[in-house]
Amino acid sequence: MKDFSDYALVLGRFQPLHNGHMEVIRKCAAESEHLTVGIGSAQYSHLPDNPFTAGERYLMLEAALEEAGIENYSIVPIEDLNRYSAWVSHVKAMCPPFGAVYTNNPFTRRLFTEAGYSVKESPMYNRAIYSGTEVRRRMVCDEDWRSLVPSSVADVIDSIDGVGRVKDISTTDTVM
Ligand code: ATP
Ligand code: MG
Repeated sequence: MKDFSDYALVLGRFQPLHNGHMEVIRKCAAESEHLTVGIGSAQYSHLPDNPFTAGERYLMLEAALEEAGIENYSIVPIEDLNRYSAWVSHVKAMCPPFGAVYTNNPFTRRLFTEAGYSVKESPMYNRAIYSGTEVRRRMVCDEDWRSLVPSSVADVIDSIDGVGRVKDISTTDTVM
């Protein structure tokens, strides 16, 4: 049987994909024979913390990976299981084989380490601004969010009126 130890997995929700994610993806693609990008919480959309569908996030990833010249990848949407003891098996069942996982999330690191995977960290890249939460906040407040994401991702967001959606689902009809 083939040894897939140099096949790697990167996990995120990508709500939306930003330049911090791209740093990890670039490093992982360069160090690995094959990269799988898992789109976590794939079942959610139209929520303040999860505004985009798995399909829209798929388009963002595809566009950004092409812009970055990365070709050795697969993209796999992964729904939450809400049963953490079985989470790693669930991810494994959905993705091409992988031997290493790139994550900076302590909880994800713990689950994959317990399951015997090699877990690699990549440095957090300007986390104060490169975070999905900050991108969404700037969209709501009409501040500059475009500089935080690859230009191809901004194009996808524009094509689906992503900013309009994030604003609509983040406001209420309650008069304060
Ligand atoms: P949100 O604020 O919506 O939770 P997020 O920026 O935390 O978004 P996620 O989609 O939750 O991003 O993806 C989490 C994965 O991306 C983790 O492994 C995390 O460490 C990595 N990541 C997020 N931001 C950065 C960054 N600035 N530099 C490096 N890795 C990052
Ligand atoms: Mg996060």
